[in-house]
Amino acid sequence: MRVIFLDLDKTLLWEDYSPEPAREFIGSLKEKGFEIVLNSSKTRAEQEYYRRAWKLREPFIVENGSAVFIPDGYFPFEVKGVRKGSYTVIELGERYEKIKAILDNIAEKYGLKYYGNSTPEEVMAFTGLPEELVLLAFQREYSETIFRWSREGFEEELEAKGLRAVRGSRFVNVIGNTDKGKAALVILSLYSRLGKVESYAVGDGENDFPLFEIVDRAFIVGNLSHAKAKNISSIDELLEVMG
Ligand code: MG
Repeated sequence: MRVIFLDLDKTLLWEDYSPEPAREFIGSLKEKGFEIVLNSSKTRAEQEYYRRAWKLREPFIVENGSAVFIPDGYFPFEVKGVRKGSYTVIELGERYEKIKAILDNIAEKYGLKYYGNSTPEEVMAFTGLPEELVLLAFQREYSETIFRWSREGFEEELEAKGLRAVRGSRFVNVIGNTDKGKAALVILSLYSRLGKVESYAVGDGENDFPLFEIVDRAFIVGNLSHAKAKNISSIDELLEVMG
């Protein structure tokens, strides 16, 4: 069985966050029999939106490796985890309430702006998220995103408090002690109970590097370089390269 982990922002989604450009690519992966696992810094609510648009039924990984959501009945065996809605959830990161409380304490000192102290209008201006998606991004369970700061040093302070601050291309994501690779390993161990697994990953950013480390074949969209990942210009090139 072939399992592919896909990043969302700047891999499957572009400036307008529309699911349309990636629709054909997802369809081709399905035809080839891939199990398609979204692995993104986006929230559960945001990923549910894209899962509906692309008709995906596989497990998915939210908020930068913070939790694995497994839809009821997906695996033919019982998985240990927390019950949330129609999912069993394996939580690897930290609770949102704890992360927000720590940020609230140092927000003034460093001039921090993040979901927890911003309005939807402010977040739309920071991120370019369209109105219909911004409220889904506010439904945070395990992480925060710092959009703006006026002083450096907050990342060290967060790390001293046991959190991880992961710098992306524009923003800083704050999570517990986890990453996209750790969460992907949890899913791969579940799939391996069904048979031999060949694993793939596609991403574009440094937060995808821990994921590239643990898969058989890794692909990076754009110009960053990673020793294990093959560079491609866009997802359309991937199908040719993969064969
Ligand atoms: Mg990305």
